Amino acid sequence: MAWDFETDPEYQELLDWADEFVGTEVEPLDLVWPHEQFVPLDGMRRKAIDPLKEEVRRHGLWATHLGPELGGQGHGQLKLALLNEILGRSSWAPVVFGCQAPDTGNAEIIAHFGTEAQKQRYLRPLLDGEIFSSYSMTEPHAGADPTQFTTRATRDGDDWIINGWKYFSSNAATASFLIVMAVTNPDVCAYKGMSMFLVPADTPGIQIERNVGLYGEPMNGGSHALIHYNDVRVPAEALLGGEGQAFAIAQTRLGGGRIHHAMRTIGLAQKAIDMMCERALSRVTAGSALSDKQFVQGYIADSYAQLKQFRLFVLHTAWEVDKYQDYKKVRKDIAAVKVVMPAVLHDIAWRAMQVHGALGVTNEMPFFTMIHGAAVMGLADGPTEVHKSTVARQVLRDHTATDDMWPSEWIPKKQAAAREKYAEFIEHEVGNQ
Ligand SMILES: Cc1cc2nc3c(=O)[nH]c(=O)nc-3n(C[C@H](O)[C@H](O)[C@H](O)COP(=O)(O)OP(=O)(O)OC[C@H]3O[C@@H](n4cnc5c(N)ncnc54)[C@H](O)[C@@H]3O)c2cc1C
Repeated sequence: MAWDFETDPEYQELLDWADEFVGTEVEPLDLVWPHEQFVPLDGMRRKAIDPLKEEVRRHGLWATHLGPELGGQGHGQLKLALLNEILGRSSWAPVVFGCQAPDTGNAEIIAHFGTEAQKQRYLRPLLDGEIFSSYSMTEPHAGADPTQFTTRATRDGDDWIINGWKYFSSNAATASFLIVMAVTNPDVCAYKGMSMFLVPADTPGIQIERNVGLYGEPMNGGSHALIHYNDVRVPAEALLGGEGQAFAIAQTRLGGGRIHHAMRTIGLAQKAIDMMCERALSRVTAGSALSDKQFVQGYIADSYAQLKQFRLFVLHTAWEVDKYQDYKKVRKDIAAVKVVMPAVLHDIAWRAMQVHGALGVTNEMPFFTMIHGAAVMGLADGPTEVHKSTVARQVLRDHTATDDMWPSEWIPKKQAAAREKYAEFIEHEVGNQ
C-alpha cells in the first residue's frame, strides 16, 4: 500500500538547494527590479539573471511544469508542488526557474494541442525562457461567463480575421505572442463555437488601449492589457487545436494554472507565518513577549493549522493530477483548492499584519501586497463563487435524492431496521426500548 508523505532524499537535496538559492540569490531581485519579471531581459539584468537561470538548469530544476513527453523536464505535479512552495516566496523565482504563470499554462496547451510547427515557433522559446506569452480570453463585458464572449474570428480565404475587445490580458505588453479566444461559429452553442489562435504580438491591428494596473500601481502603468483586436489577420496555421475546441483547451490550461497558483500560495502564506512568529517572539509589551499572549498564540495556531490543511490538500491534488493524467478527473479538487486559496492567504497575512502593529500596514512590510494578492486569487482564473458551484455540482454527482418522505438517515426508520436485523438477539432483553 503506497500512502507516504516522504520526499525521496535525492529530490529533497534539490529542494534544500532551491530553498537556499531562492533566499540568497533570487529574493533580492524582488527589491532590485520589482515588477520587472516579465520584461524581456537586456543589458545588466540579463547579465545578472542568465547565470541564475543557468544554475537552475544545472540542478535540473528548469521548467519542470511539463514532463519530458511534452518538451519539458518535469517530474510531475507533486514534485513541482514541493518546488513551487519554495518559489512562491518571491515574485522573481518562478521566472528564474522557468515556470511562471501565465506562460506555464500557455506552454501546456501548446504542448498538448499545438502542431509541430507551432511547438517549434512558440513552445521551444517559451520553455527556454527567451520569450513571454499572454492569454487573451476575458472581455470587458464578460469574464466569469465565457459564453458571452463576442470577439469574432471570421474566415477570409485561408486566413482568419479577428475583431473585438479583450480585457486583463496579462503581460500582453511584453509578450511575443498572444493566445486569443474568439467566436468562429456563432450558429452553434458557445461551447462548440469558439476557437483559440496563436497570434504574434507584432501582428498589425493589435492595439493595446491601456495597461491596467492593480491597486498601488500607476494608472495605465500595470501589466493587464485592454486590447482592441482591429482586423487582425492571421493565417490558418494560427489555429490552436481544432476549430471549436477553445473550451476544451481552456479547461486544460486553467486546470494546471489554478493548482500552480495554489502551490506558490503555500510558500507565500508560510512566509507570513514566519514573519508573524519572528515578530511575536521579538516584541515585548505589557510585561511579556507577544508570543506569550493567548490571542497571538491563537493567531499562530490557527495559521499553522489552516496552512497545514491547505498544503496537504494541494499536495494531494497534485498527486491526483499525476495519477490520473486527466484534469477532468481532478476537477472537483482543483476547484476546491482554488476556493480555499484566497481565504488561507488572506487570513494568515491579515493575522501576521496585525501582530506587526502599525508597521504591518505600512508599505515597508509586504502584508498588504499579500492581502491584495489573496483578492486577486479570488478572481484570476475564475471567481471563487463559480468554483464553489463547480465543487458543489461535482460533490452532488456522488449523491442521489430519496423518494421516501424521510431522509435515509432518519433515526426512527433506521432504528426499526436495526431492530429487525438483530431481532433474535434483542427480543429477550428486558426493558430494552
Ligand atoms: C490579476 C488578474 C490577472 C488576470 N489575467 C488574465 C489573463 O491573463 N487573461 C484573461 O483572459 N483573463 C485574466 N484575468 C481575468 C479573470 O479571468 C476574470 O477577472 C475572471 O474570470 C472574472 O471575470 P470578471 O472580472 O469579468 O468578473 P464578472 O464575470 O463580472 O464577475 C464579477 C463577480 O460576480 C460574481 N459572479 C460571477 N459569476 C457568478 C456565478 N456564476 N455565480 C455566482 N456569482 C458569480 C462573483 O462575485 C464575481 O467576482 C485576470 C484577472 C486578474 C484579477
